[in-house]
Amino acid sequence: MPALIVGNWKMNGLGDDIAEIAAMAGSAANSASRLWIAPPFTLIDRAVIVSAGAVSIGGQDCHAKPSGAHTGCISAAMLADLGAGFVIVGHSERRRGNGETDADVRAKAEAARAAGLQVILCIGETQAQHDAGETDAVLAAQLAGSLPADAEGLIVAYEPVWAIGTGLTPTLADVAAAHACIRERLTARYGGGGHGVRILYGGSVTPANAADLLKVADVGGVLVGGASLTAASLLAIAAAA
Ligand code: PEP
Repeated sequence: MPALIVGNWKMNGLGDDIAEIAAMAGSAANSASRLWIAPPFTLIDRAVIVSAGAVSIGGQDCHAKPSGAHTGCISAAMLADLGAGFVIVGHSERRRGNGETDADVRAKAEAARAAGLQVILCIGETQAQHDAGETDAVLAAQLAGSLPADAEGLIVAYEPVWAIGTGLTPTLADVAAAHACIRERLTARYGGGGHGVRILYGGSVTPANAADLLKVADVGGVLVGGASLTAASLLAIAAAA
C-alpha cells in the first residue's frame, strides 16, 4: 500500500501559493506515495483545478450540519461541492482553540461521510498526559467518543499535541505503541473493518525524519503541517516514503 502524505496548510496560503500545489501535482505522478493537501477553504476551488486529480484536495474542518444558520461555517456538502475529497476533523488546534469535544468530532465525521468525503480523524495526547503515562488511555477515550458508526472512508491520525509545530517527535517505539493501541481499538470497534483503517502519524514531520517514521509498524502515512507548505519540502517527504 503506498504511503499517504497529507499536507495541512492551516491558516496559511494566498492566491500566489497555488503555484506550490501545482508543482506538487506536477510531480505526483512520479511519486510512489499518494499526496493529499488541505489548503485553507479560500483556496480549495483553485487547488482542485490546478491539481487536476493528481493530488486530492480536502478541507481542514467542516460543520456537523449540512446547512443552516451557522454564520461563517462551512458544511461537508459545501466542501464536496467544490471538489474536495476529504476533510480533517478533530485537529488538536480546533479541539483546543474552538472547544471541540469528542462528540462534536464524531458529528463532523458523520456529516463528512454523509457528504461522501473521506475523513481524517485526529487524536493525540498532551505533554502532561504523555509524561503521566496516560497516552493509551487518552487515545482510547478519544476514539470511543469520536469514531463514526462506520469505518468506511475513515483514516485516523495520531498527532501528539506536544509534537505539533514544536520540532519534537515521540520515539519510534512510542509511535509504534500508540499505533498498536489505536489499531486494537479500531478492530474492537469495527471488527474486520478496523484492519482496513489507515493510521497516519503527525507532529513535526520533516524530510529528515519522515523515512524513519514511515518505517514504523502500522504507520500508513503522515499528516504534515509546516513542512507541507512548499512543494520542495512535501515532495522530499513523499520521496522518503
Ligand atoms: C499538524 O498541524 O497536523 C501538524 C502535524 O503540524 P506540524 O507538522 O507543523 O507539526
